[in-house]
Amino acid sequence: MNKIAVFSSGGDAPGMNACIRAIVRSAIYNGLEVYGIRRGYSGMIKGEIFKMESSSVSNIIQRGGTILKSARCKEFTTKEGRQQAYDNLKKFGIDGLVAIGGDGTFTGANIFYEEFGIPTIGAPGTIDNDLYGTDYTIGYDTAINTAINAIDKIRDTADSHERVFFVEVMGRDSGYIAIPCAVGGGAEIVMIPETKTTISKVVETLRTGWSRSKTSFIVIVAEGDEEGTAVEIAAKVQKEIPQMDARVTILGHVQRGGAPSAADRMLASQLGIACVEGLLQGQACVMAGIVNSQLVYTPFIDTISKVKAINPTMSRMIDILSV
Ligand code: ATP
Repeated sequence: MNKIAVFSSGGDAPGMNACIRAIVRSAIYNGLEVYGIRRGYSGMIKGEIFKMESSSVSNIIQRGGTILKSARCKEFTTKEGRQQAYDNLKKFGIDGLVAIGGDGTFTGANIFYEEFGIPTIGAPGTIDNDLYGTDYTIGYDTAINTAINAIDKIRDTADSHERVFFVEVMGRDSGYIAIPCAVGGGAEIVMIPETKTTISKVVETLRTGWSRSKTSFIVIVAEGDEEGTAVEIAAKVQKEIPQMDARVTILGHVQRGGAPSAADRMLASQLGIACVEGLLQGQACVMAGIVNSQLVYTPFIDTISKVKAINPTMSRMIDILSV
């Protein structure tokens, strides 16, 4: 292997830049030529490929987002699109790829390898932490710290005005972000897709709280909760308790940005190096991850198909701590 290329794809996450830096520098350290591809698979198809040097990644470890940009690319799901991507990679003589992204990105890489045989190793870059094969994904730690920071501020105003705040955090399919936000933010209730929390349970918890002289509440809602969005849930609860003084805050894309935490910089650097070393060892179609403090390479097929289940005792913690 002489020339490798790196790209970021899917939703951006803080720490992607630290990972790009680690990939570029460890490639150079190992005597490889390294190229960057802009806008994920879209740039591969359009030929947005450029040579990177050690200096290309100076002064980026502390920056959120991704200097390589990210994109969703429908064209790559077609054979013609992937053929175009392959032709471009061949033009540059690229014989190995490192993809920073989530399960969609790895699904594409798996198909691409089956068709064209260019080995790809993945680094888990997503704030969702829902990828099988790693305890933590790059960006997750920063995202939950950003959210908790916002929740602390919301609590100040909730407490002053004796209000109930419904705070929506990211998590279409999982409560990985909602649970630590609820525990760390001192919330009274958490609503996540994995467990059923009914509106009557929310009403009961609020009434019990008021009877115990609690005057403000934080309800954390993962955006994919089965009862609906935070706006919808707040409206349903308001119907049951018309006198409730409630507000809704949607944290949204704030959770995606900002300087990566120390933990994310470490993880991104470690996994970036592991991706390059994995390619040099002849690995293909695997994701580098950390499980129980050990570096592991998990086949893409497992990261795509297996579910990383949330620890059910986590929701219980909120019941205990909000008594
Ligand atoms: P996140 O978890 O942050 O959403 P992701 O990697 O899962 O990240 P996706 O948008 O699902 O993000 O996938 C990124 C890109 O991977 C897609 O835009 C598409 O180009 C490619 N991709 C996804 N699924 C396939 C597929 N079945 N075949 C080919 N390419 C795919």
